[in-house]
Amino acid sequence: MVNRYDHFIDGTFMPSESGAYFDTENPYTGEVWAQVARGDAADVDKAVASAKAAFEGEWGAMGASARGKLMVKLADIIDREAEMLGRLEVQDNGKLLAEMGSQTRYIGEWYRYFGGLADKIEGTVIPTDKANMFNFTRYEPYGVVGLITPWNSPLLLVAYKLAPALAAGNTAVIKPSEFTSASTVEFMKLIAEAGFPAGTVNVVTGYGAEVGSPLIDHPDVAKIAFTGSDMTGQKIYEQAAKKLIPVTLELGGKSPNVVFDDADLDAAVMGAISGIFAATGQTCIAGSRLLVQRSIHDEFVARLIEVAKTAKIGDPMSLDTHVGPVTTPPQFQKVMDYLAIAKAEGANCVLGGDAYTGPGAKGSQFVEPTIFTGVSNDMRIAQEEVFGPVLSVIPFDDEAEAVAIGNDINFGLAAGVWTSDMGRALRMSEKLRAGTVWVNTYRVVSYMTPFGGYKRSGLGRENGQQAIMAYLQQKAVWIATETSAANPFIMK
Ligand code: NAD
Repeated sequence: MVNRYDHFIDGTFMPSESGAYFDTENPYTGEVWAQVARGDAADVDKAVASAKAAFEGEWGAMGASARGKLMVKLADIIDREAEMLGRLEVQDNGKLLAEMGSQTRYIGEWYRYFGGLADKIEGTVIPTDKANMFNFTRYEPYGVVGLITPWNSPLLLVAYKLAPALAAGNTAVIKPSEFTSASTVEFMKLIAEAGFPAGTVNVVTGYGAEVGSPLIDHPDVAKIAFTGSDMTGQKIYEQAAKKLIPVTLELGGKSPNVVFDDADLDAAVMGAISGIFAATGQTCIAGSRLLVQRSIHDEFVARLIEVAKTAKIGDPMSLDTHVGPVTTPPQFQKVMDYLAIAKAEGANCVLGGDAYTGPGAKGSQFVEPTIFTGVSNDMRIAQEEVFGPVLSVIPFDDEAEAVAIGNDINFGLAAGVWTSDMGRALRMSEKLRAGTVWVNTYRVVSYMTPFGGYKRSGLGRENGQQAIMAYLQQKAVWIATETSAANPFIMK
C-alpha cells in the first residue's frame, strides 16, 4: 500500500488546494512507497495565514516559560517515537538506520535545550547619558519564519531551525525537501500531541520553485532559514534581499581533513573513512579533501584502502551495513558525472570509481566507495561538492602548505586535523578558515555548539545559545522620566 503525506496547516492534515500529489521513492529499492501533496502558492498562503494568526493569537500570548515547557514535552514525545522516526527517515532517504536511529534519538535535545532557553532571554537597562530618560532593550520574535530543509538529515535540520525559532516566540512554516518529506509531516503528529496551538508550526510539501519560492516572497514571512546547496542558497539570498528580510544559510562544503605524519594513524584512517564514506558521503561536512603529509602518503593510502574495502554495502535498514544507496536519482547521476570528471582530469582511481551492483545492492543508486589519488587542488574533483562517497587525496609537505591548500577553496564549513602535537593542533585550528575544526576526531556536532560556514558555506550560525538571536530582533525603548517641552528641532 502506498502512504499519503499531506500538508499540515492550522493543526490539520490537508491535501493541496490543487489536489495534486507526487510520488516519492525508497532509495534502496527504487520503488514508490508514498505520495506527497504537491503544494503551491495557494497552500503557502493558507499556511502563512495560519502561522500569522497563531503569532497574533494563542501562541503569541503565551509566556516564555509556557513555550519552553511545551518544547520540553515535545522532546519527551520525540524520545518515545525516535525509533519510528528513524525508520521513516531511512525508508525515505536511504541513510543508515544505525546512524538515523541515533540521530532521531538525539533530536529531542534541541527542543529541550532551546526550550530551557526560552525564558532566559533578557533585555538590558542602559545606563543612559541622556537626562531624565529610562532606556532599556527587549528582544522580540520576527513573527512568521520560513524554514527550508534538504534531504540528507531532514528532522535534524528542522530541529536546528525550529527549536530556536519557537523558543524565541516565532511561528513557522516548514518546506521540507521534495525527496524526503515524510518524516517532517509525521513529526507534526508529535507537535499536535504536545499541544502547540494550531498554526504554530505548519508544513507545506512540494518543490522548491512551487513552495519554497512563494514562501520567501510571501509578505508576511519575516525571516528565512535555509539548509541546502550553495547555488540554491544564493538564489534564496537574492530573493530575500528584494524583501530585505534576514536569512540564515547553511550551505555546502568541501572540507579538508588534514593528516600529519605525527598522528595516530589508526585513528586517522578511521577519521578519514568517517569523513567521506559515512552517510554515503552525503553530508555537508564530508571530509572530501584528504590532505596527507607526503612522508606517510603511500602508507596511509594503502591502509585507507584496506579498511575502505571492508565496508559492507547494502540495505540501509540492516544495522551492520556501512554504506547505503545515494538518496536521489539526480544525486546518483551527479556522483557518476564527477567520477567521470575526475578520471578525465587525470586523477588516479585507487578504489571503486563506478556504480556498485554487487552483493547487497538493490535498485540502481549505489556507488562504490571511491578514492582518487594524484589529485591537485585546482581540479574540479577537489573544488566542487560531490556529495557522495568520493574522496580526493592531496599530498602536502609541511604545515604552511597544508593551510594553503586547506584554505584554497570557496567553501569553509569544516576541517579536520590529525596530529599528536598540541601546538600544531592549535595553530591549525586558528589558521583553517572554517566554521568548525575538529582535532583528532571528525563529524561531531551538538545542539550546544555553534555550527555554520565561512565563505560560500553559509551565513549565520545554528545551534548553541547564540542561535536563538537569529530569531529575535532587538528593540530599544526610551521613556522620559520627566516630561519637558524642549526645542523640537534639535535631537535629544
Ligand atoms: P537543495 O539546495 O537542492 O535544496 C534544499 C531545499 O531547498 C529543498 O527543500 C528544495 O526544495 C528547496 N529549494 C530548491 N530551490 C528553491 C528555490 N528556488 N526557492 C526556495 N527553495 C528552494 O539541496 P539538497 O540537494 O536538498 O541538499 C544537499 C545540499 O545541502 C548540499 O549542498 C549540502 O552540502 C547541503 N547541506 C548543508 C548543510 C549545512 O548545515 N551546512 C547540512 C546538510 C546539507
